[in-house]
Amino acid sequence: MPFRGVDYFCVDSLFSEEELMVRQTARRFAEERIAPLIRDCYRDARFPAELIAPMAELGFFGANLEGYGCAGMSNVEYGLVMQELERVDSGVRSFVSVQGALVMYPILAYGSEEQKQRWLPRLQNGTAVGCFGLTEPDFGSNPAGMRATARREGGGWVLDGEKTWITNGSLADVAVVWARAEEGVLGFLVERGTPGYTTSDIHGKWSMRASVTSSLSLADCRVEESARLPGARGLKAPLSCLTQARYGIGWGVLGAAMDCYETARQYSILRKQFDGRPIASHQLVQEKLAWMITEITKAQLLAVHAGRLKDGGRIEPAQISMLKRNNVAMALDCARLSRDLLGANGITDEYPVMRHLCNLETVKTYEGTDHIHALVIGEKVTGVAAYK
Ligand SMILES: Cc1cc2nc3c(=O)[nH]c(=O)nc-3n(C[C@H](O)[C@H](O)[C@H](O)COP(=O)(O)OP(=O)(O)OC[C@H]3O[C@@H](n4cnc5c(N)ncnc54)[C@H](O)[C@@H]3O)c2cc1C
Repeated sequence: MPFRGVDYFCVDSLFSEEELMVRQTARRFAEERIAPLIRDCYRDARFPAELIAPMAELGFFGANLEGYGCAGMSNVEYGLVMQELERVDSGVRSFVSVQGALVMYPILAYGSEEQKQRWLPRLQNGTAVGCFGLTEPDFGSNPAGMRATARREGGGWVLDGEKTWITNGSLADVAVVWARAEEGVLGFLVERGTPGYTTSDIHGKWSMRASVTSSLSLADCRVEESARLPGARGLKAPLSCLTQARYGIGWGVLGAAMDCYETARQYSILRKQFDGRPIASHQLVQEKLAWMITEITKAQLLAVHAGRLKDGGRIEPAQISMLKRNNVAMALDCARLSRDLLGANGITDEYPVMRHLCNLETVKTYEGTDHIHALVIGEKVTGVAAYK
């Protein structure tokens, strides 16, 4: 059945005509171009790279950034794009998140004019792909412990270290790599083919199978001073990129939750058990659907308000932590309930629910785990940091 949207509380009335048009464009693209491919991509553990050019054409990369060919969408419009992409698959949404929030954003915010001119138009039009290397084998939640180093030599830098769990790693023409130097954490643009820089893909994932995840190795990797992001100093630079990406995730997972809810709603009306009655006629089933639509509605309102605050330049990272943590947990619970309501059918890939459920396990972990965001919120309300 065609998707009519999930709007219990007239949330659509909060959007402008323009915002609804952007959503409609992204919805049509996701349904016509991603949906027909995604089951096979997931089975084959293949990222649908053929979608890069059409997504670029629609302005999805760096959509909420200004200049250098970017679409200059509002943050609410950008959020709606993320929602529609993730309604089909979190892996495709992850590609767009990384390209825009974790690669284009740091180049725009911290790069030299030369770096911006060289990379932003190509990343925007999809002729170049980027990745973001922060996580290391021994440092995930605590990037402050990173071991990758940057050492000055001659007029340039020597990079050494390992990065892992890097989305788009082996696809990337340019990697934004974070490393520790005497002056603190610095960011570098490392181009594919630089001697000493290699990538290898991580296999055996049950989650994000339609997304490339890689390890990056830097061994005596020499780059010019012009490869360093001149405006980035200290961990607050990579953390500011994560804040951008987490905002998009807070919207994206709404899409996954909507798909799980809508699949379960339709299934419960069609599926008959006990005297030919639809399972929707049982109170226990209705309670689950009522829980899902209530939580989705609350999460929608949180996302819209976050978007309006961000558009007004008034949002704080700790608020984005609440958006990411709440909405991901909500989506994961919706996926589990939906899987339950679909019975045995729920475990197959004839339905999208188990794929969403597996993907959302990653979304819960990356970009700050649920625990870490609880600690961010805890610090905000008590003034006491409890990370250690
Ligand atoms: C598919 C995928 C794609 C990814 N893409 C990228 C990418 O593009 N770039 C990138 O840099 N990284 C990426 N990541 C890495 C991701 O950001 C990390 O996995 C995440 O930060 C968690 O780190 P970790 O896996 O090392 O877990 P750990 O930090 O080892 O955490 C393990 C558990 O311990 C808990 N924990 C840790 N410290 C505390 C504490 N102080 N208090 C309470 N609980 C705590 C965590 O919440 C978690 O439950 C990706 C990960 C995945 C799975």
